[in-house]
Amino acid sequence: MKQDYDIIIIGGGLLGCATAYQLAKRHAGNILLLDGNEIASQASARAACLLTRARIKPALMELVQETYDCIEEIESLLDESLELQMCGSITIASSEASLKGLEALEEAACRFGIPNERIGKERVKELLPWIEEEAVDVALYMPTDAFIDSALLCSGYAKAARKLGVTLRSNCKVKEILVEDAEVKGVRLATGEAVTAPVVVNAAGSWANLLMRPLKVGLPFTPVRSHFWITSIDATRFPANHPFTIIPDARAFTRSDVGGLIIGLRESQCQAFDLSTLTEKLEDFDFNKAAKWTVLDECAPLLKKYLKDIDDLPIAHYMSGPSCYVPDAKFIIGPVARYKGLHTVTGCCGGGVAAGGGMGRLAAELILGETPFVNPELFSPERFGEVDPFSAEFQQRCADARSNKKGG
Ligand SMILES: Cc1cc2nc3c(=O)[nH]c(=O)nc-3n(C[C@H](O)[C@H](O)[C@H](O)COP(=O)(O)OP(=O)(O)OC[C@H]3O[C@@H](n4cnc5c(N)ncnc54)[C@H](O)[C@@H]3O)c2cc1C
Repeated sequence: MKQDYDIIIIGGGLLGCATAYQLAKRHAGNILLLDGNEIASQASARAACLLTRARIKPALMELVQETYDCIEEIESLLDESLELQMCGSITIASSEASLKGLEALEEAACRFGIPNERIGKERVKELLPWIEEEAVDVALYMPTDAFIDSALLCSGYAKAARKLGVTLRSNCKVKEILVEDAEVKGVRLATGEAVTAPVVVNAAGSWANLLMRPLKVGLPFTPVRSHFWITSIDATRFPANHPFTIIPDARAFTRSDVGGLIIGLRESQCQAFDLSTLTEKLEDFDFNKAAKWTVLDECAPLLKKYLKDIDDLPIAHYMSGPSCYVPDAKFIIGPVARYKGLHTVTGCCGGGVAAGGGMGRLAAELILGETPFVNPELFSPERFGEVDPFSAEFQQRCADARSNKKGG
Protein backbone atom coordinates (compact mmCIF):
# COMPACT_ATOMS: atom_id res chain seq x y z
CA MET A 1 0.00 0.00 0.00
CA LYS A 2 1.29 3.49 -0.82
CA GLN A 3 2.18 5.47 2.28
CA ASP A 4 1.70 9.25 2.41
CA TYR A 5 4.89 9.67 4.48
CA ASP A 6 7.73 7.55 5.86
CA ILE A 7 7.53 9.16 9.30
CA ILE A 8 4.94 11.35 11.03
CA ILE A 9 5.96 13.34 14.11
CA ILE A 10 3.21 14.63 16.40
CA GLY A 11 4.28 17.81 18.24
CA GLY A 12 6.23 20.85 17.17
CA GLY A 13 7.91 21.66 20.48
CA LEU A 14 11.62 21.29 21.14
CA LEU A 15 11.49 17.50 21.23
CA GLY A 16 9.44 16.99 18.05
CA CYS A 17 11.39 19.61 16.09
CA ALA A 18 14.78 18.31 17.28
CA THR A 19 13.74 14.78 16.25
CA ALA A 20 12.58 16.05 12.85
CA TYR A 21 15.94 17.79 12.35
CA GLN A 22 17.95 14.73 13.40
CA LEU A 23 15.91 12.44 11.13
CA ALA A 24 16.16 14.77 8.16
CA LYS A 25 19.92 15.09 8.66
CA ARG A 26 20.07 11.30 8.35
CA HIS A 27 18.04 11.30 5.10
CA ALA A 28 15.23 9.35 6.78
CA GLY A 29 12.80 9.89 3.89
CA ASN A 30 9.55 11.77 3.59
CA ILE A 31 8.75 13.31 7.00
CA LEU A 32 5.66 15.19 8.20
CA LEU A 33 5.57 17.14 11.49
CA LEU A 34 2.16 18.17 12.83
CA ASP A 35 1.26 20.54 15.64
CA GLY A 36 -2.21 21.40 16.90
CA ASN A 37 -0.97 24.90 17.77
CA GLU A 38 1.75 27.12 16.35
CA ILE A 39 5.17 25.46 16.32
CA ALA A 40 7.32 26.45 19.35
CA SER A 41 4.34 27.96 21.17
CA GLN A 42 3.69 25.68 24.16
CA ALA A 43 6.05 24.47 26.95
CA SER A 44 8.96 25.28 24.64
CA ALA A 45 8.10 28.98 24.81
CA ARG A 46 8.06 29.09 28.63
CA ALA A 47 11.48 27.85 29.70
CA ALA A 48 14.11 29.57 31.80
CA CYS A 49 16.43 28.55 28.95
CA LEU A 50 19.43 27.21 30.88
CA LEU A 51 21.80 24.94 28.96
CA THR A 52 23.65 23.45 31.92
CA ARG A 53 26.43 21.20 30.61
CA ALA A 54 27.73 19.32 33.66
CA ARG A 55 25.47 16.56 34.98
CA ILE A 56 26.12 13.82 37.44
CA LYS A 57 24.62 11.25 35.05
CA PRO A 58 27.13 10.84 32.17
CA ALA A 59 24.51 10.03 29.50
CA LEU A 60 22.83 13.37 30.19
CA MET A 61 26.06 15.22 29.48
CA GLU A 62 26.26 13.51 26.10
CA LEU A 63 22.70 14.57 25.30
CA VAL A 64 23.38 18.20 26.29
CA GLN A 65 26.63 18.31 24.31
CA GLU A 66 24.64 17.19 21.27
CA THR A 67 22.34 20.23 21.72
CA TYR A 68 25.37 22.54 21.68
CA ASP A 69 26.58 20.76 18.52
CA CYS A 70 23.14 21.12 16.90
CA ILE A 71 23.13 24.86 17.59
CA GLU A 72 26.40 25.27 15.69
CA GLU A 73 25.26 23.07 12.82
CA ILE A 74 21.91 24.84 12.47
CA GLU A 75 23.48 28.29 12.56
CA SER A 76 25.74 27.26 9.74
CA LEU A 77 22.96 25.51 7.77
CA LEU A 78 20.60 28.49 8.04
CA ASP A 79 23.32 31.12 8.02
CA GLU A 80 21.67 32.87 10.96
CA SER A 81 22.40 33.19 14.66
CA LEU A 82 20.34 31.40 17.32
CA GLU A 83 21.69 33.90 19.83
CA LEU A 84 23.33 31.53 22.25
CA GLN A 85 24.47 33.58 25.27
CA MET A 86 27.62 32.08 26.74
CA CYS A 87 27.35 33.76 30.13
CA GLY A 88 28.82 30.95 32.27
CA SER A 89 27.34 29.44 35.42
CA ILE A 90 28.24 29.45 39.09
CA THR A 91 27.18 26.59 41.37
CA ILE A 92 27.26 27.62 45.01
CA ALA A 93 27.63 25.33 48.02
CA SER A 94 27.01 26.40 51.61
CA SER A 95 26.51 23.04 53.35
CA GLU A 96 28.15 19.61 53.58
CA ALA A 97 25.44 18.05 51.41
CA SER A 98 25.68 20.62 48.64
CA LEU A 99 29.49 20.52 48.77
CA LYS A 100 29.32 16.80 48.01
CA GLY A 101 27.02 17.54 45.06
CA LEU A 102 29.37 20.26 43.83
CA GLU A 103 32.35 17.91 44.04
CA ALA A 104 30.49 15.25 42.05
CA LEU A 105 29.62 17.86 39.42
CA GLU A 106 33.22 19.06 39.30
CA GLU A 107 34.46 15.51 38.80
CA ALA A 108 31.89 14.90 36.06
CA ALA A 109 32.86 18.15 34.32
CA CYS A 110 36.57 17.29 34.47
CA ARG A 111 35.95 13.80 33.10
CA PHE A 112 33.92 15.21 30.21
CA GLY A 113 36.34 18.08 29.49
CA ILE A 114 33.96 20.88 30.49
CA PRO A 115 35.99 23.93 31.60
CA ASN A 116 35.46 24.60 35.31
CA GLU A 117 37.25 26.33 38.15
CA ARG A 118 36.69 26.89 41.85
CA ILE A 119 36.47 30.60 42.58
CA GLY A 120 36.74 32.53 45.82
CA LYS A 121 34.18 34.88 47.39
CA GLU A 122 35.76 38.02 45.86
CA ARG A 123 35.55 36.64 42.33
CA VAL A 124 31.95 35.53 42.95
CA LYS A 125 31.10 39.08 44.04
CA GLU A 126 32.85 40.48 40.98
CA LEU A 127 30.81 38.25 38.69
CA LEU A 128 27.54 38.64 40.62
CA PRO A 129 27.42 42.03 42.33
CA TRP A 130 24.02 41.30 43.92
CA ILE A 131 25.21 38.32 45.94
CA GLU A 132 25.97 38.21 49.68
CA GLU A 133 29.44 36.73 49.33
CA GLU A 134 29.57 35.72 52.98
CA ALA A 135 26.88 33.11 52.25
CA VAL A 136 29.14 31.38 49.72
CA ASP A 137 31.37 28.61 51.08
CA VAL A 138 32.52 27.08 47.81
CA ALA A 139 31.75 28.16 44.24
CA LEU A 140 32.29 26.33 40.96
CA TYR A 141 32.45 28.50 37.83
CA MET A 142 31.80 26.96 34.42
CA PRO A 143 32.54 29.70 31.89
CA THR A 144 31.17 27.86 28.83
CA ASP A 145 27.66 27.29 30.17
CA ALA A 146 25.05 29.25 28.25
CA PHE A 147 21.40 30.11 27.88
CA ILE A 148 19.31 30.44 24.74
CA ASP A 149 15.81 31.67 23.93
CA SER A 150 13.99 28.32 23.91
CA ALA A 151 11.38 29.37 21.33
CA LEU A 152 14.14 30.59 19.02
CA LEU A 153 16.01 27.30 19.43
CA CYS A 154 12.82 25.35 18.73
CA SER A 155 12.12 27.41 15.60
CA GLY A 156 15.76 26.86 14.61
CA TYR A 157 15.30 23.06 14.69
CA ALA A 158 12.04 23.44 12.74
CA LYS A 159 13.52 25.72 10.09
CA ALA A 160 16.54 23.47 9.68
CA ALA A 161 14.27 20.43 9.37
CA ARG A 162 12.19 22.22 6.73
CA LYS A 163 15.32 23.20 4.83
CA LEU A 164 16.28 19.50 4.79
CA GLY A 165 12.89 18.54 3.34
CA VAL A 166 10.53 18.00 6.31
CA THR A 167 6.93 19.16 5.81
CA LEU A 168 5.68 21.21 8.78
CA ARG A 169 1.98 21.73 9.42
CA SER A 170 0.94 23.95 12.32
CA ASN A 171 -2.61 24.37 13.68
CA CYS A 172 -3.25 20.81 12.58
CA LYS A 173 -4.35 18.67 15.49
CA VAL A 174 -4.02 14.89 15.55
CA LYS A 175 -7.17 13.25 16.85
CA GLU A 176 -5.91 9.69 16.97
CA ILE A 177 -2.98 7.45 16.20
CA LEU A 178 -4.13 4.74 13.78
CA VAL A 179 -3.11 1.14 14.47
CA GLU A 180 -4.03 -2.22 13.03
CA ASP A 181 -2.92 -5.64 14.30
CA ALA A 182 -0.33 -4.19 16.67
CA GLU A 183 1.17 -2.04 13.91
CA VAL A 184 1.04 1.70 13.44
CA LYS A 185 -0.66 2.90 10.26
CA GLY A 186 -0.64 6.70 10.57
CA VAL A 187 -2.79 9.35 12.18
CA ARG A 188 -6.27 10.79 11.88
CA LEU A 189 -6.47 14.58 12.03
CA ALA A 190 -9.17 16.54 13.84
CA THR A 191 -10.53 17.39 10.38
CA GLY A 192 -11.18 13.68 9.79
CA GLU A 193 -8.39 13.30 7.21
CA ALA A 194 -6.24 10.15 7.60
CA VAL A 195 -2.52 10.44 6.86
CA THR A 196 -0.58 7.18 6.53
CA ALA A 197 2.98 6.29 7.59
CA PRO A 198 4.67 3.16 8.96
CA VAL A 199 6.34 5.17 11.73
CA VAL A 200 4.64 7.64 14.08
CA VAL A 201 6.58 9.56 16.74
CA ASN A 202 4.56 10.85 19.66
CA ALA A 203 6.31 14.05 20.77
CA ALA A 204 3.15 15.73 22.03
CA GLY A 205 4.69 16.88 25.33
CA SER A 206 2.19 17.14 28.19
CA TRP A 207 -0.54 15.79 25.89
CA ALA A 208 1.34 12.64 24.78
CA ASN A 209 -0.61 10.32 27.08
CA LEU A 210 -3.96 11.58 25.83
CA LEU A 211 -3.04 10.19 22.41
CA MET A 212 -1.74 6.94 23.93
CA ARG A 213 -4.76 6.26 26.14
CA PRO A 214 -7.04 4.75 23.44
CA LEU A 215 -4.12 2.45 22.51
CA LYS A 216 -3.86 1.26 26.12
CA VAL A 217 -0.31 2.56 26.40
CA GLY A 218 0.74 4.58 29.45
CA LEU A 219 3.90 6.63 29.13
CA PRO A 220 5.55 6.94 32.57
CA PHE A 221 5.29 10.70 33.18
CA THR A 222 2.97 13.41 34.34
CA PRO A 223 3.10 17.18 33.80
CA VAL A 224 4.18 19.03 36.93
CA ARG A 225 4.37 22.76 37.48
CA SER A 226 7.69 24.53 36.87
CA HIS A 227 7.85 28.22 37.49
CA PHE A 228 9.97 31.30 37.95
CA TRP A 229 9.62 34.93 38.93
CA ILE A 230 11.23 37.94 37.21
CA THR A 231 12.10 41.13 39.06
CA SER A 232 11.51 44.51 37.51
CA ILE A 233 14.40 46.05 35.59
CA ASP A 234 17.46 47.22 37.47
CA ALA A 235 20.16 46.97 34.84
CA THR A 236 22.92 48.23 37.13
CA ARG A 237 22.31 45.46 39.59
CA PHE A 238 21.39 42.66 37.21
CA PRO A 239 23.30 43.35 34.00
CA ALA A 240 22.56 41.05 31.09
CA ASN A 241 24.90 38.13 30.61
CA HIS A 242 26.06 37.73 34.16
CA PRO A 243 26.59 34.03 34.92
CA PHE A 244 23.47 32.15 35.91
CA THR A 245 23.60 30.55 39.35
CA ILE A 246 22.59 27.23 40.78
CA ILE A 247 22.12 27.34 44.54
CA PRO A 248 21.14 23.85 45.79
CA ASP A 249 20.85 24.93 49.44
CA ALA A 250 18.11 27.35 48.42
CA ARG A 251 16.60 24.95 45.80
CA ALA A 252 17.05 27.93 43.48
CA PHE A 253 18.57 29.16 40.26
CA THR A 254 18.92 32.71 38.99
CA ARG A 255 19.69 34.26 35.62
CA SER A 256 19.86 37.90 34.61
CA ASP A 257 17.71 38.80 31.68
CA VAL A 258 17.51 42.24 30.06
CA GLY A 259 18.17 43.93 33.38
CA GLY A 260 15.83 41.86 35.53
CA LEU A 261 16.65 38.80 37.61
CA ILE A 262 14.91 35.51 36.84
CA ILE A 263 14.47 33.59 40.07
CA GLY A 264 13.59 29.91 39.87
CA LEU A 265 12.46 28.29 43.12
CA ARG A 266 11.44 24.70 43.69
CA GLU A 267 8.89 23.94 46.39
CA SER A 268 9.17 20.95 48.72
CA GLN A 269 5.89 19.54 47.38
CA CYS A 270 5.67 20.02 43.68
CA GLN A 271 2.24 20.20 42.04
CA ALA A 272 1.21 17.57 39.48
CA PHE A 273 -1.68 18.06 37.05
CA ASP A 274 -4.35 15.59 36.13
CA LEU A 275 -3.80 14.91 32.43
CA SER A 276 -7.47 14.71 31.67
CA THR A 277 -7.94 18.36 32.66
CA LEU A 278 -5.37 19.73 30.17
CA THR A 279 -6.63 22.34 27.73
CA GLU A 280 -5.48 22.37 24.08
CA LYS A 281 -3.42 25.51 24.65
CA LEU A 282 -1.41 26.21 27.78
CA GLU A 283 -2.65 29.82 27.69
CA ASP A 284 -6.06 28.48 28.72
CA PHE A 285 -4.77 26.26 31.54
CA ASP A 286 -4.72 27.47 35.13
CA PHE A 287 -1.44 26.33 36.64
CA ASN A 288 -2.81 27.34 40.01
CA LYS A 289 -1.30 30.77 39.54
CA ALA A 290 -3.01 31.87 42.72
CA ALA A 291 -0.43 29.79 44.63
CA LYS A 292 2.51 31.77 43.26
CA TRP A 293 2.78 33.93 46.38
CA THR A 294 2.43 30.96 48.74
CA VAL A 295 5.28 29.21 46.94
CA LEU A 296 7.35 32.38 47.04
CA ASP A 297 6.67 32.64 50.77
CA GLU A 298 7.83 29.05 51.25
CA CYS A 299 10.98 29.28 49.14
CA ALA A 300 12.20 32.88 49.32
CA PRO A 301 13.54 32.63 52.90
CA LEU A 302 16.03 30.00 51.69
CA LEU A 303 17.35 32.41 49.05
CA LYS A 304 17.42 35.41 51.38
CA LYS A 305 20.84 34.41 52.66
CA TYR A 306 22.23 35.06 49.16
CA LEU A 307 19.89 37.82 47.98
CA LYS A 308 19.31 39.84 51.10
CA ASP A 309 16.55 42.16 49.98
CA ILE A 310 14.49 39.51 48.19
CA ASP A 311 11.44 40.49 50.28
CA ASP A 312 11.56 44.04 48.90
CA LEU A 313 12.42 43.28 45.28
CA PRO A 314 9.57 44.28 42.97
CA ILE A 315 8.35 41.23 41.04
CA ALA A 316 7.32 42.22 37.52
CA HIS A 317 6.45 38.85 35.97
CA TYR A 318 5.60 35.27 36.87
CA MET A 319 5.92 32.35 34.44
CA SER A 320 4.57 28.87 34.98
CA GLY A 321 4.30 25.86 32.72
CA PRO A 322 4.44 22.08 32.61
CA SER A 323 7.55 19.93 32.83
CA CYS A 324 6.87 16.27 32.09
CA TYR A 325 8.32 14.38 35.06
CA VAL A 326 9.23 10.69 35.25
CA PRO A 327 9.67 8.82 38.58
CA ASP A 328 13.43 8.34 37.98
CA ALA A 329 13.85 11.87 36.53
CA LYS A 330 15.16 10.46 33.21
CA PHE A 331 13.70 11.05 29.76
CA ILE A 332 11.42 8.72 27.75
CA ILE A 333 12.84 7.97 24.31
CA GLY A 334 12.37 5.02 22.00
CA PRO A 335 9.95 2.47 20.58
CA VAL A 336 6.70 1.55 22.31
CA ALA A 337 6.73 -2.25 22.49
CA ARG A 338 3.02 -2.84 21.99
CA TYR A 339 2.88 -1.37 18.44
CA LYS A 340 5.41 -1.79 15.66
CA GLY A 341 6.37 1.62 14.29
CA LEU A 342 5.20 3.64 17.31
CA HIS A 343 7.94 5.73 18.94
CA THR A 344 8.02 8.47 21.53
CA VAL A 345 10.27 11.24 22.74
CA THR A 346 8.93 12.93 25.83
CA GLY A 347 9.26 13.06 29.64
CA CYS A 348 11.55 16.10 29.45
CA CYS A 349 12.04 16.33 33.26
CA GLY A 350 12.60 20.06 32.92
CA GLY A 351 15.56 19.59 30.59
CA GLY A 352 14.26 19.74 27.03
CA VAL A 353 16.08 22.95 26.15
CA ALA A 354 19.42 21.62 27.33
CA ALA A 355 19.03 18.01 26.21
CA GLY A 356 16.54 18.28 23.30
CA GLY A 357 19.18 17.97 20.57
CA GLY A 358 20.49 14.75 22.10
CA MET A 359 17.01 13.40 22.80
CA GLY A 360 16.12 13.98 19.15
CA ARG A 361 19.33 12.26 18.06
CA LEU A 362 18.68 9.16 20.16
CA ALA A 363 15.06 9.01 18.95
CA ALA A 364 16.23 9.25 15.33
CA GLU A 365 18.91 6.60 15.76
CA LEU A 366 16.42 4.18 17.31
CA ILE A 367 13.85 4.78 14.56
CA LEU A 368 16.47 4.18 11.87
CA GLY A 369 18.09 1.18 13.58
CA GLU A 370 21.46 2.96 13.90
CA THR A 371 23.85 2.31 16.77
CA PRO A 372 22.67 4.63 19.55
CA PHE A 373 25.22 7.15 20.85
CA VAL A 374 24.08 6.65 24.48
CA ASN A 375 22.65 3.62 26.25
CA PRO A 376 18.97 3.62 25.21
CA GLU A 377 17.90 1.35 28.08
CA LEU A 378 18.24 4.29 30.46
CA PHE A 379 15.44 6.04 28.58
CA SER A 380 13.27 3.13 27.49
CA PRO A 381 9.49 3.88 27.60
CA GLU A 382 9.07 0.35 28.97
CA ARG A 383 11.39 0.57 31.96
CA PHE A 384 8.66 0.88 34.61
CA GLY A 385 6.50 -1.89 33.17
CA GLU A 386 2.80 -1.05 32.84
CA VAL A 387 1.82 2.25 34.43
CA ASP A 388 -1.39 4.23 34.61
CA PRO A 389 -0.41 7.88 34.14
CA PHE A 390 -4.02 8.90 34.84
CA SER A 391 -3.92 7.57 38.40
CA ALA A 392 -3.40 10.02 41.24
CA GLU A 393 -0.91 7.65 42.82
CA PHE A 394 1.35 7.54 39.75
CA GLN A 395 1.07 11.30 39.30
CA GLN A 396 2.28 11.72 42.88
CA ARG A 397 5.33 9.51 42.16
CA CYS A 398 6.23 11.82 39.29
CA ALA A 399 5.69 14.95 41.38
CA ASP A 400 7.94 13.48 44.10
CA ALA A 401 10.75 13.15 41.55
CA ARG A 402 10.54 16.91 40.98
CA SER A 403 9.92 18.04 44.58
CA ASN A 404 12.98 19.53 46.27
CA LYS A 405 14.89 19.68 42.96
CA LYS A 406 18.22 21.31 43.61
CA GLY A 407 20.19 21.18 40.34
CA GLY A 408 20.24 23.33 37.19
C1 LIG B 1 8.81 27.29 33.67
C2 LIG B 1 9.68 26.33 32.91
C3 LIG B 1 11.07 26.50 32.91
C4 LIG B 1 11.89 25.62 32.21
N1 LIG B 1 13.23 25.85 32.18
C5 LIG B 1 14.05 25.02 31.48
C6 LIG B 1 15.45 25.26 31.43
O1 LIG B 1 15.96 26.24 31.98
N2 LIG B 1 16.22 24.38 30.75
C7 LIG B 1 15.70 23.29 30.11
O2 LIG B 1 16.44 22.52 29.53
N3 LIG B 1 14.36 23.07 30.11
C8 LIG B 1 13.54 23.90 30.78
N4 LIG B 1 12.18 23.68 30.79
C9 LIG B 1 11.65 22.49 30.10
C10 LIG B 1 11.41 22.72 28.61
O3 LIG B 1 10.61 23.85 28.42
C11 LIG B 1 10.74 21.47 28.08
O4 LIG B 1 11.60 20.37 28.33
C12 LIG B 1 10.45 21.48 26.59
O5 LIG B 1 9.80 22.66 26.21
C13 LIG B 1 9.61 20.28 26.23
O6 LIG B 1 9.33 20.29 24.86
P1 LIG B 1 8.19 19.38 24.26
O7 LIG B 1 8.40 19.37 22.79
O8 LIG B 1 8.14 18.08 24.94
O9 LIG B 1 6.81 20.09 24.68
P2 LIG B 1 5.97 21.29 24.01
O10 LIG B 1 6.81 22.45 23.70
O11 LIG B 1 4.79 21.52 24.89
O12 LIG B 1 5.51 20.67 22.63
C14 LIG B 1 4.50 19.70 22.50
C15 LIG B 1 3.69 20.08 21.28
O13 LIG B 1 2.76 19.05 20.97
C16 LIG B 1 1.61 19.66 20.41
N5 LIG B 1 0.50 18.72 20.50
C17 LIG B 1 -0.05 18.20 21.62
N6 LIG B 1 -1.07 17.38 21.31
C18 LIG B 1 -1.17 17.39 19.97
C19 LIG B 1 -2.06 16.75 19.05
N7 LIG B 1 -3.03 15.95 19.45
N8 LIG B 1 -1.86 16.99 17.70
C20 LIG B 1 -0.88 17.81 17.29
N9 LIG B 1 -0.03 18.44 18.12
C21 LIG B 1 -0.17 18.24 19.43
C22 LIG B 1 1.42 20.90 21.26
O14 LIG B 1 0.66 21.88 20.57
C23 LIG B 1 2.87 21.34 21.50
O15 LIG B 1 3.30 22.35 20.60
C24 LIG B 1 11.33 24.53 31.49
C25 LIG B 1 9.94 24.36 31.48
C26 LIG B 1 9.12 25.26 32.17
C27 LIG B 1 7.64 25.07 32.10
